[in-house]
Amino acid sequence: MSANRHMSVDSRGRYTPEVAGAAAPSSEGPSGSRSHNPLLQRRASLMQEPVLVLNATYEPINVTAVRRAMVLMLKGVAQAEEMHNAEVHSAAHAHKVPSVIRLLAYRHIPQQSRALSRKNILLRDRNTCQFCCRVFPSSELTLDHVVPRSRGGRSSWENLVACCYRCNNNKGDRTPEEAGLKLARRPRPFTLHTSRQLMRLIGHRDERWRKYLFY
Ligand SMILES: [Zn+2]
Repeated sequence: MSANRHMSVDSRGRYTPEVAGAAAPSSEGPSGSRSHNPLLQRRASLMQEPVLVLNATYEPINVTAVRRAMVLMLKGVAQAEEMHNAEVHSAAHAHKVPSVIRLLAYRHIPQQSRALSRKNILLRDRNTCQFCCRVFPSSELTLDHVVPRSRGGRSSWENLVACCYRCNNNKGDRTPEEAGLKLARRPRPFTLHTSRQLMRLIGHRDERWRKYLFY
């Protein structure tokens, strides 16, 4: 595919993690009367569709949006491995919409070390209270120190879990054993394995991702 002057190119050319953004599915179906041009709106949501990014070795490394994936393709950084049937049109060309792309040069991915943050803990725990195993909106979850801070428990991946307010109150300043609570699973750092699980979650509706993720 030749470079297309009509498309703006991201000068950074980075494929930053966009898992969280891609996880929010674009609304389908009848939308409100906000849209003046349904065709344009459809195209806008198409450009936000998630695209699986593979390393040169076919190892899945990331999820990005169609828009960025197409920029990477136009810059010659990546090529499409799987396509949607849909097309988007720029001023001069029609482009097939990628579903899976692969980087042409191998990129070393450092140990997927994500920042320890409330958002990432909730993402790791899939917004599920690790004591009662129920799913909550982020606003109804807090972080619980499994071993309380008053007992020397640290703020670490291994000692912080998503927890609903009810369980958090119930547990108080006790260890799970003392409170008669059981952890859904042992908390771990956010690893490449976790990211792959998230990719699977996002890719569940796209058959074309399967052969790269399920092995
Ligand atoms: Zn709970």
